[in-house]
Amino acid sequence: MDPLRFVRSDFAHLEGYAAVQPIDVLAAELGMPPESIVKLDANENPWGPHAAVNAAASSAALHIYPDPAQISLRRAIADYCNVGIENVVCGQGADDLIDLVLRLFAPRRAVDNVPTFGMYSFLAAVNGVEVVEVERSRGFALDLEANARAVDEGASVIFVTSPNNPTGNVSSCRELESLLDLDAIVVVDEAYVEFSGSSAVPLLARHPNLMILRTFSKWAGLAGLRVGYALAAADIVRRLMAIKQPYNVNVAAEAAARAAIEHRAEILETTRGIVEERDRMSRLVGDLGWLRPFPSEANFVLFAVEGRKAAEVAADLRERGVLVRYYEKPLLENFIRISAGRPEDTDRLVATLQEVGR
Ligand SMILES: *Cc1c(COP(=O)(O)O)cnc(C)c1O
Repeated sequence: MDPLRFVRSDFAHLEGYAAVQPIDVLAAELGMPPESIVKLDANENPWGPHAAVNAAASSAALHIYPDPAQISLRRAIADYCNVGIENVVCGQGADDLIDLVLRLFAPRRAVDNVPTFGMYSFLAAVNGVEVVEVERSRGFALDLEANARAVDEGASVIFVTSPNNPTGNVSSCRELESLLDLDAIVVVDEAYVEFSGSSAVPLLARHPNLMILRTFSKWAGLAGLRVGYALAAADIVRRLMAIKQPYNVNVAAEAAARAAIEHRAEILETTRGIVEERDRMSRLVGDLGWLRPFPSEANFVLFAVEGRKAAEVAADLRERGVLVRYYEKPLLENFIRISAGRPEDTDRLVATLQEVGR
């Protein structure tokens, strides 16, 4: 008997999410020590978590189940974001919330403003939701009219990433308000907001169809621990709380996230340093003359590669132990995305780009 007969038929051709390769696997493949690899492919925090955050995670009581109501973490986040605790729900990374949103609303269609983060379309496919791709303009601004048309044609959830990954630009409150006037849920993914400062939170009180996604993965350096949250109207939060896995935030992640909020002043100082390093990296790489940077308000920069294939540039760098992100996608064929690292990472990156040349 063929057990695959029982598998959902629309999964037959679903490919898994193209995630980044673990550093030890790559180091073994390249025959290099892991610490000599410059990892600028996943927008991780090159400095790692604050010492107090590490300490909090390692002293969590691992034998006790986490609080399914997430009370202390939600209270800390509410204070950090200046909203009520009834407006906060936490998850196993922002990715968990994307999945929960799709399950809660089960829309017939969802809008993806491309090019953007791949998780919306991946999780839409897993949830049997049809994706309507709306292409951004040449400067990667939203096409508001095309979003309105998609809603007219049955889309009821719109995903907007701001700052957008991988393009780095933000959508203004005016643009977001024009989407919020549509008859749809607007999910604004603010995974990089701590590097930007431009947030949709002030719109929450006036727009019950607004949801904001946030994460501790990028600014707080907790990508490996998996903790994120959504901000939304109390009614939506209540429903999300009702359908989530009760223990979706583990005790170590909860303790670490609370410690990160407690020590936010110092952590946000390092994010300011990352922003400075991003600008230095963008300038030095741009000065090479064949990689054109796009302005970014996140911890990475998108470059248009001129006169060479972006895929080959990424492969040449990889062979030399420098990892950047390349996408095998039509809209991003000629681009690479480079995360801001430590100053020595930038120096290795620039020297290696000079070596591989145009
Ligand atoms: C990295 C990233 C996330 C993932 O956040 P996790 O909390 O690590 O799941 C979500 N959205 C965007 C746009 C990202 O770049």
